[in-house]
Amino acid sequence: MDIPLILSGTFGELRSNHFHSGLDIKTNQREGIEVFSSAEGYVSRIKISLWGFGKVIYITHPNGYTTVYAHLQKFSDKIEEYIKKQQYKIESFEVEVFPTENEIPISKKELIAYSGSTGGFMGPHLHFEIRDTKTEKTINPLQFGFNISDSTNPRINTIVAYALDSLSHINKLNAPTQLTITKLGNGNLITNRIFAIGKIGFGLNTFDQFDAASNQNGIYSLQVLVNGEKVHQFEAKSFSFNETNLINVLIDYERFQTLKQRIQKCFNEFSFDLSLTSFLKNGIITIEDGLTYNVEIIIKDFNGNSQKISIPITGKKDIILSKEKENITSYKIKHIEFNEFSKDFAKVAFPKNTFYNDFYLNFEVTGKIVKVHSPIVPLANNYTLTFDVSNYSEAEKNQLYIASISNNGKTNYETTIKKSNTFYTSIKKLGKFTLLFDNDKPIISLFNFKNEQWVSNHTNLKVKISDRESGIKSFRGEIDGKWILMEFDVTTNILTYNLKDISYSEAKHNLKIVVIDNVGNLNTLESTFYRKK
Ligand SMILES: [Zn+2]
Repeated sequence: MDIPLILSGTFGELRSNHFHSGLDIKTNQREGIEVFSSAEGYVSRIKISLWGFGKVIYITHPNGYTTVYAHLQKFSDKIEEYIKKQQYKIESFEVEVFPTENEIPISKKELIAYSGSTGGFMGPHLHFEIRDTKTEKTINPLQFGFNISDSTNPRINTIVAYALDSLSHINKLNAPTQLTITKLGNGNLITNRIFAIGKIGFGLNTFDQFDAASNQNGIYSLQVLVNGEKVHQFEAKSFSFNETNLINVLIDYERFQTLKQRIQKCFNEFSFDLSLTSFLKNGIITIEDGLTYNVEIIIKDFNGNSQKISIPITGKKDIILSKEKENITSYKIKHIEFNEFSKDFAKVAFPKNTFYNDFYLNFEVTGKIVKVHSPIVPLANNYTLTFDVSNYSEAEKNQLYIASISNNGKTNYETTIKKSNTFYTSIKKLGKFTLLFDNDKPIISLFNFKNEQWVSNHTNLKVKISDRESGIKSFRGEIDGKWILMEFDVTTNILTYNLKDISYSEAKHNLKIVVIDNVGNLNTLESTFYRKK
């Protein structure tokens, strides 16, 4: 882009359920900034989706790399023309195509798109990635020689010590213990001395800032040394997309769910393999009675600015004052086995390896609410939650759906599969669930024109759609009985039809919008508009 390169997100940054797979480049808080290809190649993939990357282009280069440009507002004319043809062919706004090498060649610095904010609620920016074309591993673009000025050290906000088995303790506690941080004269940090025994580990909350922006970004690397020996390293160089869910076991997931603070653990309780990390003995430190240890953690940003923290430890056997509370109304999960439990009208089935570890699962039914533990345990895979609905009439069943209930009481539709007397959902989160009714049709209203209006001076027609209960499942727009491309913006709930898409020979036209919600309630709006030939 022909604007200064300022980042609001770095590669490997810890995000919700994923590591950030590229750079987030600021676009002056606006959309429509020209995006140019970083090198010659060809467009190898174009995807338009309501969520995720929104509108995204992939360019494959002859040097073995693929670059990715996401959250775009629109594509360049030649790409726009190509993708619109596909959209009209399959009659869908959402689309994904893989053009072959000769279809859309791209030269270096060719205008390919305009920046936007498509794909959800994250504000305007350009998400940029560099991937290895063959392996599809994503690579830190900063390694390719962007020069972004950064003269300040990364920061450590919080450090937590963990007792990693039932016999170990830190300052007499068998529980996560936050340490006090003091700054030394030389700029290094030190914590209070801890007295511990057994298997322990550490975790940190960190961030880094570039000179030109106040955004708190991820760090580039982290190292842990125990008495000078390296036991753990994190380096934001490259990872595979099938590893990205491991974020939930690299962080203290329970603390994140309860306090919304991400503590990156320097130990590997569950022995996972993640390209971003390496461990010696899983980064777990064994403290013996009477010995002293010095743990040093060094974090760095990409430019090499660093921050060091020392944790002095004395091995001292003590009586444990508190133990982690044990669950009472619970079911034992053996994570390498299939686990299934039923209660009243609800059933949960966890396939092998749904979880990363064994634990006691809390599973209760209170009134109409099913509680499947709480969201503090990370999941590796989906499980099935089934409701027996034999008490409902056929008419009621049509309007019924499975909803999750978040901590603030908000309900959210979960993909409900209906099989006569059982409804089920395949899901990757724990917490509260219930059955709800959606008796209301979606709402449709004309947004920038009125029925029977002349719209010759309009560039587009906008229609607002919404659904109060289960949410919108699909929409369809037609003019004079033929499908038209309507772009849906999930942040404004507005459908937009570009009047230049089709040329007409008549002045009078019929616009028809059909919207269906997630339980199948359907609404139709028909209107007439006039346009000069
Ligand atoms: Zn991004």
